[in-house]
This record gives sequence, C-alpha cells and structure tokens, in this order.
Amino acid sequence: MLDRSTIWPYDRGDPGEFYYQRYGHPAGVAAEAALGELEGGHALLFPSGSGATTALLLTLLEPAKTVALADGAYYGTGVLMRMLERWGLRVVEFDQKQAPPDDVDLVWIEAPSNPLLTMPDFDSAAAASAPVVCDSTAATPVYLRPLERGADFVLHSATKFLGGHHDVLLGPVVAKERDDFDRLLEFRTRSGIVAAPDAAWLLLRSLKTLPVRMERHTANAKELARRLEAHASVERVRYPGFGGLMSFDVAGGAEAARRVETSTERIKNATSLGGVDSVLETRARWESGRVPDNLVRLSVGLEDVDELWADLEQALAS
Ligand code: PLP
Repeated sequence: MLDRSTIWPYDRGDPGEFYYQRYGHPAGVAAEAALGELEGGHALLFPSGSGATTALLLTLLEPAKTVALADGAYYGTGVLMRMLERWGLRVVEFDQKQAPPDDVDLVWIEAPSNPLLTMPDFDSAAAASAPVVCDSTAATPVYLRPLERGADFVLHSATKFLGGHHDVLLGPVVAKERDDFDRLLEFRTRSGIVAAPDAAWLLLRSLKTLPVRMERHTANAKELARRLEAHASVERVRYPGFGGLMSFDVAGGAEAARRVETSTERIKNATSLGGVDSVLETRARWESGRVPDNLVRLSVGLEDVDELWADLEQALAS
C-alpha cells in the first residue's frame, strides 16, 4: 500500500528506517531497489530527469570544473548546464561517436541521443580519466546497462519509458560506487530535491511491465522505420534498431513536416516520449538550429502497427 506519511514514530526513542520523508520513504526505497537491480548499481530517485541532472552536477562539480557534453544530447541538458555557468561550471561539447576531450572533470553521454539517435563510443568514454554519466533514457536497462560499459552513473528521465504511461515525472540516478551514492544521497537530503511517494509508486507499477512494453515498442518501431525508409516523402530515418524512439525528415522542408505532425489522428501531436501512446512532433520548435527543420520525432507506442502506419501514411499524403 502507498504510504504518504511524512513522519514515522521513533522506536523506543530511536529513529527507525523511516522517520522523515525527505530522508527516505518506503515507496522510494522500493523503487530504488528495483531500479538498482535492473542497472546493477545503487539508485536514487529525483523528482524529474532534469532534477537528477542538477543533483549530479552540483554533487560532482564545483566552480571552474568542466563537463564535456555529447553535442547531440537532449537539448534541455545543455540549456541547464549553460544556466549553471553563472555558478562557475564550464561546458564543452564533443561528438560522442569519438573520444571525449582530455582535461575535463565529467563526461556526459546519451545512449541513444534524443532526437538524432547517435550512440556513444563507450570504450573511448570509459578510457577518459573523468567520471562518466550516461543518460540512458531512450535505451532503458532492457537494452543497455551503461555501468557494465564503463559508465560511473546512469541517469534516466523516468518520465519516458520507465514510467511509460505519460503520467509520472521522475528521474533516477544509478551510481556504480557506494561512495558516490552516499554523496548524492547527502546532497538530495539537504537540498530537498526528493521524489514524492506517489511518483515512486507509479514507477514501481510501471517497472512490472517494462520488458514487455519495450519488446512491443521495438517491434512496432522497427516495422515503422522500415516502412518510412521506403516512403517517397521521407528523406531520412534515424532509428538505432531497438526501443521506441526514432526521427525522420520529411521531404518538402519545415512546412511539409508541420503538415505531417498536424495531420495525424491516432498519433498525438505532443511532446515527450516513451509512453504506451504514440506521439510525434517537429523538434525545430524547441531546438531550432540543432536539428533539421523538417525533422519529426516519433515515439512509437504499443498500438496496432498497421493502424499506426495507416495514420502516418495519410499524414504524409496530406
Ligand atoms: N534526458 C533525456 C534524454 C530526455 O529526453 C529528457 C526529457 O525530455 C530529460 C533528460 C529530462 O527529463 P525530465 O523531463 O523528466 O526532467
């Protein structure tokens, strides 16, 4: 049962496992145990993927330290890092298909990147002397366990595939080392950037179906990628071969892409990704200059693949 208590009585004068919610609560600890097992490390929940990013940066770095960020990583991660430049953080971008720059204090990769779907060179990243964070939101532990590929931390926007139903905002970090977990936990407790019990409980619900959902996301996405590649109105498809996230460029430029996103009926024209319902959007509205104007990001859900294809076909013909 979901326990929303903020306090738990002491046991004959001594605090027990739970005593004040900011320090820890049963649903959070249960979800962290499940995630830690999936990733092979020590998990902590934050209220969003961005909250998890903030906590990691502030725990690991200090003024005049440099983070090397994969240039195709989720645009909001870069925006957040640039905001923290005011506090002395330095940011350099690099191509994650190659080795990260030397002399940095943290390496940040994303597997696969959203929405250009590149995969990092894990061996080169692991060879860096700096700790490595891998944002594995689009891969999920079903397809990738970054801690086994040399990363020191895995981060997710659990708002996406881990939550899976477009009804929970959440972001875990999984640390390989217990010491790192302890530092992050101390920062989380003191800063108060803690996930609520309701969100943790929803994540626990979702993890039960994660492997089946991912299998179906992948089957549907593989088929749609194949059909889109053969479509005369599609210039390019980006799909890494697993998971539910892809992007494609529509022939005819930005206007044609906008017609496609506003013409689907079954597939919602909405942001985000990773849910049971398919969504699509042109990304230039958010990250103009970083992505082609005619790029449509498609998060493939669990619907019938022929129905999804019929919807895309009629939208591409619009
Ligand atoms: N990382 C990736 C790859 C994302 O796609 C997102 C959100 O879109 C985030 C991090 C940030 O997560 P949240 O929206 O849960 O703060």
